[in-house]
Amino acid sequence: MSLRNCKRCGKLFDFQGHSVCQTCLVKDTDDFAKIWEYLSQNPSAAVLELSRATGVDPVVINRFRREGRLVIDPKKGEKLFCASCGKQINEGRFCSDCANQLRMEMLAANNELAMQAEVKMKGKVHTMDSLKKRR
Ligand SMILES: [Zn+2]
Ligand SMILES: [Zn+2]
Repeated sequence: MSLRNCKRCGKLFDFQGHSVCQTCLVKDTDDFAKIWEYLSQNPSAAVLELSRATGVDPVVINRFRREGRLVIDPKKGEKLFCASCGKQINEGRFCSDCANQLRMEMLAANNELAMQAEVKMKGKVHTMDSLKKRR
């Protein structure tokens, strides 16, 4: 017998091939049925929409996905685009390129701000917003 922590309630239980305890297995099955039913009618539903429609915690939905029981195709679902270059992405707000770029810019901006404070030079630093508006 091997004990594990239930992925749902955190209690120790006798592991029998499921990641949750007996009590939670019932809830899991129930939740899964709800999600499955909703997904069969709305194949493009994203996690948040699913959660709202079925009342199932997004944490649970995401666990189903991690466990490979549920496949939600982000390309068909809520389309996400990089907020900077517009490239389609799977999660987050920026594609990895832009995320890196932004991190660099933030670092640079921090340096620049520090310098600015020293020499009191104005009008050289553009905020992201003003940059976006000029495009
Ligand atoms: Zn449990
Ligand atoms: Zn991008």
